[in-house]
Amino acid sequence: MRIDPTLSPTPEAWLAANAPDEPVFLFHPARLMEVAREFLTGFPGLVTYAVKANPAPEMIRALHAAGIRAFDVASPAEMALVRAEAPGAALHYHNPVRSAAEVAAGLEAGCVSWSVDRMAELEKLAGLPRGTEIAVRLKLPVAGAAYDFGTKFGATPEQAVQLLRRVEALGFTASITFHPGTQCTSPAPWGRYINEAAAVARSAGVTLHRLNVGGGFPAHRDADRPDLQAIFDTICEAAQGAFDNPPHLVCEPGRALAAEALTLATRVKGVHEEAVFLNDGVYGGLAEWRDIAPMDRVRAVSRSGGPLQGERTRRVVFGPTCDSIDRLPELLPLPCDLTEGDYLLFEGMGAYSRALVTGFNGYGVRRVVEIENQG
Ligand SMILES: *Cc1c(COP(=O)(O)O)cnc(C)c1O
Repeated sequence: MRIDPTLSPTPEAWLAANAPDEPVFLFHPARLMEVAREFLTGFPGLVTYAVKANPAPEMIRALHAAGIRAFDVASPAEMALVRAEAPGAALHYHNPVRSAAEVAAGLEAGCVSWSVDRMAELEKLAGLPRGTEIAVRLKLPVAGAAYDFGTKFGATPEQAVQLLRRVEALGFTASITFHPGTQCTSPAPWGRYINEAAAVARSAGVTLHRLNVGGGFPAHRDADRPDLQAIFDTICEAAQGAFDNPPHLVCEPGRALAAEALTLATRVKGVHEEAVFLNDGVYGGLAEWRDIAPMDRVRAVSRSGGPLQGERTRRVVFGPTCDSIDRLPELLPLPCDLTEGDYLLFEGMGAYSRALVTGFNGYGVRRVVEIENQG
């Protein structure tokens, strides 16, 4: 995907001047820097970025420039990306199931932290240098996230005790990691996980080097901006309360760090009685809308860049492909004066959007433009 460095002051100004007929991602590096700073100053430990949320080279470069010095990678391709765009940054390889070739690639790339959730996967790491950090991935049945990650990865507390003991017996540095599930709006799951991590470490008789509290931090998706500081405070207090000797804390946000970096600009191809047709949909930048509740930060803009202020009615919205699945799962409130050639701007679309764009039916977002601010 090419990035067009032309600086326009707002999305509206850029749309009015360029009248793009294809969908476009508008990149806001200044806003990305602000969010990175919020994590770096508010989180009581090391902030790493989960690359999968948005693996664009300019994202990695901007986050590195903002002061992010460690990256959570899940594959050899993500390792190569971070090595190229953020030289000197630490790599945390936190995908707990790896082929032998991937273990070799992680070793070659110099990954300093590895996660495990199964004994047989830990045995595959026996050739890593002594002292390497191995973080046991814990799972608990907790609610609070938009969707749960515990169905695929994670060891139960009983399994985690065994894994921690084996990590120490193999001569590695023992840590615990967890992920409360993505878009987790309540601080409570972090508190529960931290208490359980302390109990697991005590049962195992192991002093933890670090505790990685995962990603899952919420992005701003509806009217209320999430209170990240309240989550940071809960994490800090829980760790102080649960451990006699609190481990260093690490977090690995993807969504919350990346979301504000992009606005998705789509154009209206047709307004019909039964539905509005856009030039992008669930096979493009709106892929995640199938799996996670849609967000409300959508604004309608006329082709000349002005706001559309007609009364809003809830409309069916279709994407551009010839597949009937290509439809937003819920009705979208749209102004009654919306017409063909106007635009819909979806804000906060920097996470799990660009990486999921397909070329199905010849559509999909191919263009990224840098914008000074969000308007
Ligand atoms: C996906 C993932 C993250 C990031 O999750 P978000 O919900 O986007 O913050 C962090 N850590 C691991 C291990 C992940 O798989």
